[in-house]
Amino acid sequence: MKIAIAGFGALGSRLGVKLQTAGHEVTGIDGWPAHIAAINTNGLTVVHDDLPPKKYFVPVVTPKEVTGEFDLIILLTKTPQLDRMLTDIAPIITQKTQLLVLSNGLGNIEVIEKHVARDQILAGVTLWTSSLVKPGEIHTTGTGSIKLQAIGHADAISVAAALNKAGLNVEITQDVLTAIWHKAGINSVLNPLSVLLNANISEFGTAGNGMDLALHILDEIQKVGATQGVKVDITGIMNDLTDLLKPENAGNHYPSMYQDIQNGKRTEIDFLNGFFAKIGRQEHIDTPFNALVTALVHAKEDIERVK
Ligand code: NAD
Repeated sequence: MKIAIAGFGALGSRLGVKLQTAGHEVTGIDGWPAHIAAINTNGLTVVHDDLPPKKYFVPVVTPKEVTGEFDLIILLTKTPQLDRMLTDIAPIITQKTQLLVLSNGLGNIEVIEKHVARDQILAGVTLWTSSLVKPGEIHTTGTGSIKLQAIGHADAISVAAALNKAGLNVEITQDVLTAIWHKAGINSVLNPLSVLLNANISEFGTAGNGMDLALHILDEIQKVGATQGVKVDITGIMNDLTDLLKPENAGNHYPSMYQDIQNGKRTEIDFLNGFFAKIGRQEHIDTPFNALVTALVHAKEDIERVK
């Protein structure tokens, strides 16, 4: 399959290497000059667990440079960057192109619908992870999985088969929205609290009232979900959080929002806690914890960008 990955950052690079290794024709699309130059000159360096670094040569171009037709475009920008990416790559999207979004957060499907027909859209949620440590180098660990669903009549079966050929552990679901809200619930606890408490996941777990804060955030998300016909399973999310706190799982990991703040970047907060607070306002559901967390992360973004 001819596949473009729009947003060839930490996760896009990892998935791109796996898809290319499985025999797909992969093109990365990205706008970060140093990262593009490093990959196109010396290859993408992947350090997986404790193994020696390996180099992969996946061609990467900017949205302005990309040409040709693709069977599948995997969207892997940060959520606030998605709309701009879709505008920039409009010339390569034909009526036959399928688009799969794997970015975290809520509201992605609505953004993509502004650019293409529903029948071209697939939405997914992924447990694959990756860290971009410097231009042209990612560090990866363990394995992951993907749950995806066609939003209209996109061909989920052929997309899942192509991704599974690369060992991406794809499962087709008929309820991707519940999976997306579940992951957004986890991220709405761990991401902002890592920023505000200056803590990795395991350190957050040592806070005496950490899980109480989590419950307040999740309780609001559950009430907001009910207004949207989405059942949020607080017990399931709390169980997943407890697992993630363990150092042998994700405990030593600093969530991506923490890394964004460190790098002076805008975060995905408006598509996590901010999204729930916004829907809460529209539906007259009180969301004081999500609203406060959103405001504090925005304040932190401003402070770090000025430094
Ligand atoms: P990232 O910032 O490393 O990668 C995004 C890339 O998109 C960047 O390289 C950026 O240059 C590029 N980009 C954005 N807008 C662009 C534009 N208009 N033109 C050209 N290039 C553009 O982010 P990431 O960590 O790979 O995460 C991507 C998404 O996947 C996020 O929603 C994140 O929450 C989600 N996610 C990440 C992980 C992870 O472990 N990294 C795990 C699960 C989900």
